[in-house]
Amino acid sequence: MNIERKDSLSFKLLRWVLGAALLVGVILSFMQIIYDAYVTDQQIDTDGQRILAMFKDPSTQALYSLDEDMGRQVIEGLLQHEAVRSASIGHPMEASLAQGARALQDHMYRRLTDLVLSQERAFTVALVSNKSGGEYYGDLQVVLDTAPYGHRLLTNAGVILISGVLRALILGLVLYLIYHALLTRPLAKIIRHLGRINPERPTDHKLPLLYGHEKNELGVWTLKVNQLLASIARNTHLRREAEDSLLLMSQIDFLTGLPNRQELQLQLDKVLDEARNGQHGVAVLCLGLDDFKNINEQYSYQIGDWLLQSVAQRLRAHSQLTGCLARLGSDQFVIVKPGVQEPDQAAALAQSILDSLKEPLVVTQLYGSDALSVSLNATIGITLYPDDGDSAELLLQQAEQTMQLAKKGARNSYQFFVASIDSQIRLRRRIKKELLEALSKQQLYLAYQPQMDYSSHKIVGVEVLLRWQHPELGMISPDVFIPLAEQSNDIIVLGEWVLEHACQQLRNWIDEGITGVRVAVNLSATQLHHVDLLRQVREKLSLYNLPPDSLELEVTETGLMEDIQAAASNLHGLREMGVRLAIDDFGTGYSSLSYLKTLPLDKIKIDKSFVQDIFDCEDNATIVKTIIQLSKNLGMRVIAEGVETPEQEEFLIALGCNEGQGYWYGKPATATEVRARFFKQN
Ligand code: C2E
Ligand code: MG
Ligand code: MG
Repeated sequence: MNIERKDSLSFKLLRWVLGAALLVGVILSFMQIIYDAYVTDQQIDTDGQRILAMFKDPSTQALYSLDEDMGRQVIEGLLQHEAVRSASIGHPMEASLAQGARALQDHMYRRLTDLVLSQERAFTVALVSNKSGGEYYGDLQVVLDTAPYGHRLLTNAGVILISGVLRALILGLVLYLIYHALLTRPLAKIIRHLGRINPERPTDHKLPLLYGHEKNELGVWTLKVNQLLASIARNTHLRREAEDSLLLMSQIDFLTGLPNRQELQLQLDKVLDEARNGQHGVAVLCLGLDDFKNINEQYSYQIGDWLLQSVAQRLRAHSQLTGCLARLGSDQFVIVKPGVQEPDQAAALAQSILDSLKEPLVVTQLYGSDALSVSLNATIGITLYPDDGDSAELLLQQAEQTMQLAKKGARNSYQFFVASIDSQIRLRRRIKKELLEALSKQQLYLAYQPQMDYSSHKIVGVEVLLRWQHPELGMISPDVFIPLAEQSNDIIVLGEWVLEHACQQLRNWIDEGITGVRVAVNLSATQLHHVDLLRQVREKLSLYNLPPDSLELEVTETGLMEDIQAAASNLHGLREMGVRLAIDDFGTGYSSLSYLKTLPLDKIKIDKSFVQDIFDCEDNATIVKTIIQLSKNLGMRVIAEGVETPEQEEFLIALGCNEGQGYWYGKPATATEVRARFFKQN
């Protein structure tokens, strides 16, 4: 903050000093003028007497001798004096011997001075003979005009007044400079330094001791302020420490050192904010230890506490990979996992937590050599953002409720808040787990769906589709279990099994005399990028002695584009082998047409969604037309999936489609059924 000059302390002092000095100066000047007036008044009297004394003798002489000339000369001599207005020599009873007068002097301020000195002053002296008992001749009378005196008086008064005012002004100015140097400047400097002090850290910047002011009030004041700042800093530090530990106490669970419910709420709010921005899911897992009350009672509360600390320790290992971990109180913990795309991820985390808690906890330090081993079970309730709620409070509350409910049922497990998700997740995890077992238990088999050539109107191929007949769950769609097998990488084993059985089946058919039929096997994205693919294919072809072009591999558009480099190298290897390659579900993904041109593909399969709506949706008809045109331009064959009616077939043929596949020709069926229905002529 800048202080304006007119508001500065020295300026204020200047005003006061100047005012006071002026007042005193004027008063003193007036006193001097009054004294001067008095002295002037005396001076007039003295002058009058002196003039009379000077001219007394010649006047006596002139009057004694009645010498008028002499008298006139005396009078002229008298009038030489500037103040003499009139003079006369004579006897009062007679006509005067000589007299002279002149006009009153005209002076500008004489009215003023006349008030003090009066206009004129008369002086008279008796003219007597020198002899003793001297004879009286008459009088010499002189009248003095006071104007010259008044003029001098006024001139002096002016000088006195002006010099008085000037003195006051100079004094004021000098004092101002002194005040400025001794007060305003040091104070301004201190103010500048005060401005630099950070109230948060008051000792970072100390006020400097000003040179020349070390021992005066300013120096003492500076020292005192510095001491004050130091004690403020000390107090602030202590207060902050107290606040920090209070804050920590309010955020932390003392037993485990984990955040408590309030803190978790805040952390979860943050995680949810980030999830909102990043548009990903969050899982909130509320874990309750099973039967912890009994453990406490069975052993001791001390051991109970130790176990809780150990559980916290184990959970920490999981939370390192996740978001936050907190203890809600008693035997309840919460783990938050951000970045959840699929409920499966939350389920996997819950399962791994349950597994890790099952590992016995060994209490040694409390029981000396008799180590105690305790296994803990827990139940976890899971809520998912955004599906189950979008506030931290709601997600936590529902996760807790779910956990409590689950404790009443099957313990030592996890449960999702939404029953449908819960059962879906359970199902998916079961499917994932049982898939490979299903192979050995022979629950998996292959179905074959014919592919019709539109120029010869013959079956030229069959697509191999995997089927799973589960003893409890019934028929499971490949759309469900193939993606799960991809997640667990079981698809590699599964894919090899499919390839093997498809090749074996083709060999059987060829051996039965069926010729000119290809098998089309689906390849998942994982298989397509797998290093072992070429070996597997080569091995199966040679094992069943199949011509390579009797095998067609279908890769999906999305699988292809996922990692085009890795895919390209496998595709080129397959092409060199002579295997045919088709791009499946074309139109549903985002193919890069420039890549499509460079890849060794033989066939495009138009996705069934376009074919099915071909008459209802004009766009679909356009898409189908465009894909057929594109295939021709790229020199590829084109097959339509999902042909269900003769009208669709007719339309596709008219557009120049090469092949068709769909319920119109036959649903996927077992090898025997296909053999019976489609290859009976052979
Ligand atoms: P996809 O390769 O596109 O197979 C065609 C799907 O369309 C098959 O479903 C088939 O039953 C169905 N479909 C064929 N014609 C018609 C029709 O006219 N109308 C209708 N509505 N649907 C028809 P499916 O068998 O359920 O297979 C689904 C997907 O599972 C397959 O799609 C394929 O991507 C995958 N899949 C099946 N078997 C295997 C396999 O052995 N390995 C791999 N990696 N994926 C497989
Ligand atoms: Mg396919
Ligand atoms: Mg398809």
